Amino acid sequence: MTLTPVPDLLAASRPGALAAFNVITLEHAEAVAAAAEATARPAVLQISENTVRYHGGLAPLARACLQIAADSTAALAVHLDHATGAALIESAVALGITSVMYDGSTLPDADNRATTAAITRWCHRRGVVVEAELGAVGGKGGAHTPGVRTDPAAAAAFVTATGVDALAVAVGSEHAMQARTARLDDDLIAALAARVPVPLVLHGSSGVPDAGLRSAVRHGMAKINLATRLNITLTGAVRTALADGPALTDPRRYLAPARRAVQSEVEHFLRLLDPAAATAA
Ligand SMILES: [Zn+2]
Repeated sequence: MTLTPVPDLLAASRPGALAAFNVITLEHAEAVAAAAEATARPAVLQISENTVRYHGGLAPLARACLQIAADSTAALAVHLDHATGAALIESAVALGITSVMYDGSTLPDADNRATTAAITRWCHRRGVVVEAELGAVGGKGGAHTPGVRTDPAAAAAFVTATGVDALAVAVGSEHAMQARTARLDDDLIAALAARVPVPLVLHGSSGVPDAGLRSAVRHGMAKINLATRLNITLTGAVRTALADGPALTDPRRYLAPARRAVQSEVEHFLRLLDPAAATAA
């Protein structure tokens, strides 16, 4: 299977949704690949601009993810998440990443439209697909308006004007939620899916309960981005391992159980977003 373009993974995931997981450490990427192999489901390894900043560059983690995807027997893609500038997108494409998100959602609408269109043209000439965002999904970086919703007609016009391949929409989720208490607007998801000619992406999915995620997919969500949930799991497992072994010093002794815990969390979401697996269960 190896490294697979995101549009192919979206197609392979229907009638379920494609799950995309944010990678911060090498262990995240290894866990996602192992879970995709165990469930025989496609998945996306995605690296956010915040994580690039944390590591001081994109290349080391991106190369690791690309290698893990290439070596895996599962169908995996690597995606750049929430890039706010063209330079990082150019770096990602130079490294061999073929799916990027340009996030101009904090710009005035006309600027978001013009910049997204220019970046999309540049990417398409290189065979790279682009996800954009309209109607800022709250909870990230401060530049957000809680309660904001994406208008279906505006979303359809935005996609036509920019040529983007996927669209992140604001339907009630927020980034970085620790509790799974978000209630999504399923009627709005259905209205967006009916009007918007490209796959819809849900950001801030960690704050949505399992039933809400299943319902969002039934109403037309095509890609589900998960980050916070994995970090709660990873950090919780590290905390337990350190509490159980106060003398531990070898990182492998606490990162191995953390990686196993993340893998089982990823397997849960891969099965959750696959209607065939749910009906079989
Ligand atoms: Zn996001």
